[in-house]
Amino acid sequence: MEVAVVTVGDEILAGQTINTNATWLGTELEKRGVTVERMTTVPDRTADIAQVVNEFRARYDAVIVTGGLGPTHDDVTMEGVAAAFGTELAADEAVLDWLTTTGGYSADDLAPQTTHIPKRATMVRNPEGVAPGCQIENVFVLPGVPSEMKAMFELIADEFVGEDRYTQTVVAAEPESELLTRLEAVREQFSVNIGSYPGNNVRLRVTGTNEQQVDAAATWLRKHVREPEE
Ligand code: ATP
Ligand code: MG
Repeated sequence: MEVAVVTVGDEILAGQTINTNATWLGTELEKRGVTVERMTTVPDRTADIAQVVNEFRARYDAVIVTGGLGPTHDDVTMEGVAAAFGTELAADEAVLDWLTTTGGYSADDLAPQTTHIPKRATMVRNPEGVAPGCQIENVFVLPGVPSEMKAMFELIADEFVGEDRYTQTVVAAEPESELLTRLEAVREQFSVNIGSYPGNNVRLRVTGTNEQQVDAAATWLRKHVREPEE
């Protein structure tokens, strides 16, 4: 398994904060037999976050992003990750639920942004603080405060295993929006993950831990999508 770590924050780039999150994650992932292929720090800027996350999610099995989750205007990581998936932020029921029950907040006191995560993402709760994290496909978004980041990583640690993964890429010369039903059909039939990366053509990246399943899913896709002419 190959992972990229993205740490977000102007203060890291300015040398004011030592990037202990990257070091800690590197150690933990290495212990699990996972290969860390990239550690990149980006400023608190939506477009930069989106660009790096988008590149890395296509290239690696998983991406861990830390920092910039608070509700203040300089915390734009959730926006950046949403943009990387071509989606936007939306209020999330699970987040609201968690903040008002376990967090003890009243719904009226919460700044609207506090309950927002990218559409299609699932919340990862924050055992040590307020701002929740999230998972969207193979991207995991964790807080910047080291104690919160570590506690949240423990909740998702099982996703990071050194077991062999298999990948096949299928290229479709069709608009991504028209492929959705077929991608759903593959997910239903085979135990694989499918990443979809639009560009000139759409690259469909089939991954999984079972080689036969990956093979069968890729074969099914090649039969059912229009591949580009040579
Ligand atoms: P908050 O809700 O407190 O704003 P956050 O998730 O938005 O948390 P940041 O605003 O990016 O996180 O950072 C909060 C603090 O966490 C920073 O001031 C810094 O002390 C620490 N921190 C952030 N990123 C890192 C890092 N990569 N390594 C070590 N410490 C970090
Ligand atoms: Mg912050």
